[in-house]
Amino acid sequence: MNKNILIIFIKKYKFSYIVGLVFMFLSSYVQTLFPKILGNTVDILKIKGFKPERIYVNIGWILLIAAGTFAFTYIWRNLVIGNARKLECYLREKLFDHFQILSPEFYNQRKTGDLIAYAINDINAVRQTLGPALSMAINGIVVCAISVYSMTRAVNWQLTLMALLPVPVMVYIMIHIGKAVKKRFKRVQETFASISDRVNENINGMRVIKSYVQEEKEVERFEKLNDQMVDSNLSMIRVSAFLPPLIELCFTVSFVINLIWGGNMVLKGSISLGDFIAFNGYLTMILAPVLSIGQVTTIFQRGMASFGRLNQIMSVKPCIEDTGTIMQPPRGQIKINKLTFTYPGTGKAALKNIGLTIPKGHILGIIGKTGSGKSTLVNLLLKMYPIGNGLIYFGDKDINEFKLEALRSGIGVVPQDNFMFHASVADNIRFFKEIYKPEEVIKAAQDSCIYESIMEFPKGFEAVLGERGVNISGGQKQRISIARALVREPEILVLDDALSAVDTVTESKILNNLRRVRKNKTTVIVASRISAVMQADEIIVLDKGEIRERGTHAQLIDKGGIYNEIYRYQFGTGKLESVG
Ligand code: ADP
Ligand code: MG
Repeated sequence: MNKNILIIFIKKYKFSYIVGLVFMFLSSYVQTLFPKILGNTVDILKIKGFKPERIYVNIGWILLIAAGTFAFTYIWRNLVIGNARKLECYLREKLFDHFQILSPEFYNQRKTGDLIAYAINDINAVRQTLGPALSMAINGIVVCAISVYSMTRAVNWQLTLMALLPVPVMVYIMIHIGKAVKKRFKRVQETFASISDRVNENINGMRVIKSYVQEEKEVERFEKLNDQMVDSNLSMIRVSAFLPPLIELCFTVSFVINLIWGGNMVLKGSISLGDFIAFNGYLTMILAPVLSIGQVTTIFQRGMASFGRLNQIMSVKPCIEDTGTIMQPPRGQIKINKLTFTYPGTGKAALKNIGLTIPKGHILGIIGKTGSGKSTLVNLLLKMYPIGNGLIYFGDKDINEFKLEALRSGIGVVPQDNFMFHASVADNIRFFKEIYKPEEVIKAAQDSCIYESIMEFPKGFEAVLGERGVNISGGQKQRISIARALVREPEILVLDDALSAVDTVTESKILNNLRRVRKNKTTVIVASRISAVMQADEIIVLDKGEIRERGTHAQLIDKGGIYNEIYRYQFGTGKLESVG
């Protein structure tokens, strides 16, 4: 996000901002009429045999002022504060859009909590700056200016100056103490962040914590953090507690000066009692804005810092440029040409010189130990990282010619670390897209052998999965993920270790179904178990990013190489040797 995003917004709501500002000025102005009328009323009362009609007129004015203040304030608050809320929504939407285009790399480097903070705290700080803080500032400036002017008119500039003498002292104290408070507040925020990180980690890792009987240790660690939080809060309060009484003191001084000097002027008859009362009324009016200076500057500073942070994150470029123009999903054979790939910043190739052709309609099996580069290959097919031209083709089209959306919508991937949304089973399968008919969802569930399990849920397809899918097993999760990919009937389907938590009987049922429903469509099965790939048309064995062996199951067994070794180990006919 550059500054433009704000400017675009303000331009869009220009009219309501202008009207809002006009009413803001009006409401501030109308408020400042009150002390004058009050003083005038007192002066009328002092005259012997005063005419009651004049009092009635003044009462009328006072009621009118109250009504005017009410109406004008209501209008500007609706416009200005309302706009700030719209801005909040607008910024959050932009940020969320931006989050969608950022690469997996970005998410590897950032903590979830930090990203949530951008979407909640920082945007909130910007809203507060452009809403309440800005209006307080404008309202304060207008009220102060009119009040000071009216004070000099009601009495004289000498008394005005004397009465306002403590104000600079007050501002000085506020800024000074404010700085100290801010420093300590930062500490409070830091401890708060660590606490929320701990809570987050604990909730997500509760199963591990329990199984390693670490509950007490965790509670201890948490208590320590909590104590730190209390300490930092107390240390902040020790300083901030000075502020209100000191300000109170300054104001008292101001009123005492005013009472002595102004009272004398009334006694000498150089000003009327009404003027004196009006003067005091204005002095009181100045209090509120002066008191809010500290608060307003803090909100402004925080808002600016947050805006800076948002700008920074919005200017993070997705590392993949979406310059392709083909809008149709990829089809035909997949051809990979001497593909070597190194993750940014690692300096070590995760894939080396991969050459591979997968004819349309084939099933390719990829087997290899963890870390051999299987998932990397899958990620590259989806262009999760930038890829040079001439390395991957679908049909006769280079991967970079496809628009990302088209590319990814044509390839159904069941990732290794599947994720369930807190939603119904049906929504998890159709990914909230209403275009899939219930029969299609049911068929996908049947083909991925999860239908029976779903029917056992209390509400069947409408059963809502618990957060992070805790109320279903890993194998069930994997099968729901497979159904999610199958329902789309993609031209290319990739299962990335997606059968690892499924028992071998179910695995073979699913594989049979796949062969049936995926006729004439390309399927890639990544696995560390031989049983998942042995019936594939071709199998490649990856090791340290290289294709070490390739062929059909029978060919690879005959070869007596790595594949054969894994086979013997997994089927219990060989020696124990380390395999993925
Ligand atoms: P597999 O899926 O076969 O277990 P991966 O493709 O996930 O293996 O990993 C291949 C290699 O690339 C490993 O050495 C791994 O450490 C590295 N790697 C995987 N993901 C990243 C990443 N995001 N950044 C840097 N290196 C990575
Ligand atoms: Mg993997």
